[in-house]
Amino acid sequence: MPYLAFINQEGINMILACRTTALIIIFAFAISLSTAAAPVPENVNAQDIDHSIKPGDDFYRYANGTWLKTVAVPEGQSSFDTRAVLTGKTSQRVRDLIQAAALSKSASGSTTQKVGDYYASFMDEAAIEAKGLTPLAAEMAMISAIKDKASLSAYLGGTLNTEVDGLTGNADHIFGVWVNQSFTSSEHYVFHLLQGGLGMPDRDSYLDPSPKMAGLRAQYQAHIAAILKLAGVPDSDTKAARILSLEIQMAQAHAPDSDAADVFKQNNPWKRADFNIKAPGMDWDTYFKSAGVAEQSEFIVWQPSAVTGTSALVGNESIDLWKDYLKFHLIEHYASVLPKAVAAEDFAFYGTILAGAQQMPDRSKDAIAATNAALGQAVGQLYTQRYFPPEAKARAQAMVADLITAYRTRISNLTWMSPPTKEKALVKLAALRIGLGYPDIWINYSTLDIVRGDAFGNMRRAEAFNRQYNLAKLNRPADPGEWRIDPQIVGAIIVFTPNTETFSAGLLQPPFFDFQGDAASNYGSAGAGIAHEISHSFDELGNIYDAHGRLGLWWTADDLANYRAAAAKLATQFDAYCPLAGLCLNGKQVLSENIADLAGLLTAHDAYVLSLKGRTDVVIGGLSGEQRFFLAFSQRWRKLQNEAALRRQVATDHHAPGEYRSDTVRNVEAWYKAYDITPNDKLFLKPEDRVAIW
Ligand SMILES: [Zn+2]
Repeated sequence: MPYLAFINQEGINMILACRTTALIIIFAFAISLSTAAAPVPENVNAQDIDHSIKPGDDFYRYANGTWLKTVAVPEGQSSFDTRAVLTGKTSQRVRDLIQAAALSKSASGSTTQKVGDYYASFMDEAAIEAKGLTPLAAEMAMISAIKDKASLSAYLGGTLNTEVDGLTGNADHIFGVWVNQSFTSSEHYVFHLLQGGLGMPDRDSYLDPSPKMAGLRAQYQAHIAAILKLAGVPDSDTKAARILSLEIQMAQAHAPDSDAADVFKQNNPWKRADFNIKAPGMDWDTYFKSAGVAEQSEFIVWQPSAVTGTSALVGNESIDLWKDYLKFHLIEHYASVLPKAVAAEDFAFYGTILAGAQQMPDRSKDAIAATNAALGQAVGQLYTQRYFPPEAKARAQAMVADLITAYRTRISNLTWMSPPTKEKALVKLAALRIGLGYPDIWINYSTLDIVRGDAFGNMRRAEAFNRQYNLAKLNRPADPGEWRIDPQIVGAIIVFTPNTETFSAGLLQPPFFDFQGDAASNYGSAGAGIAHEISHSFDELGNIYDAHGRLGLWWTADDLANYRAAAAKLATQFDAYCPLAGLCLNGKQVLSENIADLAGLLTAHDAYVLSLKGRTDVVIGGLSGEQRFFLAFSQRWRKLQNEAALRRQVATDHHAPGEYRSDTVRNVEAWYKAYDITPNDKLFLKPEDRVAIW
């Protein structure tokens, strides 16, 4: 089960089978009740309507027909949608802000100075070239000085990084730490230890016997040799072969990807003493002391086999082999801030061979990404100061408050859920923390020095700062309101442990949400999206996590049986949709997401009505508020994709193609009223065939 989910706003991309991700959009805002003719707000896209199509015959093409006829899938892409537009627009804004910071003469120590100097230093290739590999010298010497298991363990402890979270399948060093509450107690942060250390993407890259993957491994080995040669390491070919064989052994100990979907396999509480017993090899006292967590007593070990296997390799493999492995990965880790020859070799393998890219991207693209990675919330502050003011946050919060009120009523009125389970659901709803736009308290970067001209040092210091920031949480009570996604990302994150969902400022922008725009459209677009994600906290994804994110099924067997019975008709409804001749949807495959879409739409509509407080909404662009609500809902799903992408989606995705997600409106009484839908319309469903689960 996913305990951490990430969904894009279209809800189409799932990162991994059960690491569902959800992204959503929302916005609430005050409705103007003025009757004077007002300009059409940015989030009412009436111009995209195709008036030649009756809304009751094909609502998706009525709402989006003109748009669909005027856009095209960009060259080299398989699809095009609103999210792609927003990602492009937001990336450009972030780029402009960072580059402006780099040109400004800001006060030393200010947010702008840190962001600007980080970027400018990364871009200063002449300075990087002039230093050669000397920035690595001190750490290379540390590796060279490793002489026994204790000094090896001490070095490895120093590499324990925090650049992981619950979605990380392979940390950049042999282990990664994620500081989060445990799966069974919500009071404190605990130390989640995750597998890592592989230079190729995952376990299968090392173990898949197919000729294609064997060829890839040969290319990886050549890459290792090339990097070692650049660093002046003798016998690089022989050493590369041995390093690859060490990583193959590590991969054999890694948990398969399928386990990543199962939280019960990840929830392995270990005490400090367990490491010596269950995973002999590493000098664990030295390791944890060197990592700066000597006092840590409780751990959640996500992949015990990887900890046991890697530790055994520390105990059994030659010290010299480990030193070669560490030198290679040290260079690899810092390749982006080392001379061109290293960066070019790195791109030849990771960019061209693994990712299929032909040309090294403009360095500025990497510099923007690196600045975001190092100073995520600092860039987020610059972004929100410009694009997401406190009024935007307040209006999003007002909309979410309406959504929660609507959910409270819906849960209370459910007929399939037993009264004791409803009590638990209501407690969970009350405890749900929803972050909108940007954090209430920003990370304070004042102790992080960013020095112009020192790209390598900046990266080192930022890593140390972020690691310290995360490890410091171990000493504090868990904060369920912790902010978890950079505001400038077009996205959202759902975490079941703790019980929290976060929607970024990058996502909360027109047409999804317009804090100065039309409320009806906000509720129909972002509102329905956020409500979709909220429903996951209560459905078959969230029903094993309680109000505080602790594991424990809170539905009864009867609840589950009744829920599935209520949902059966919706699966049948989607079975009947066939985008191409001979290609029809599998209603069961897309059922859980369709249930969430329906819950989101119904709840958002309730919330919209609540927001009106009994008044009648204004007419904008010839459309009533009710019409704009459903129009925005349908427009949220618009997407162009080529046939191969469509076939892939139908075959594998848990989300139906957008056209059919838009058709969710067929189950909603208010849609029939808003557009005067009659039994003569093709999308008409008899009242007894309409479904409502939540
Ligand atoms: Zn979903």
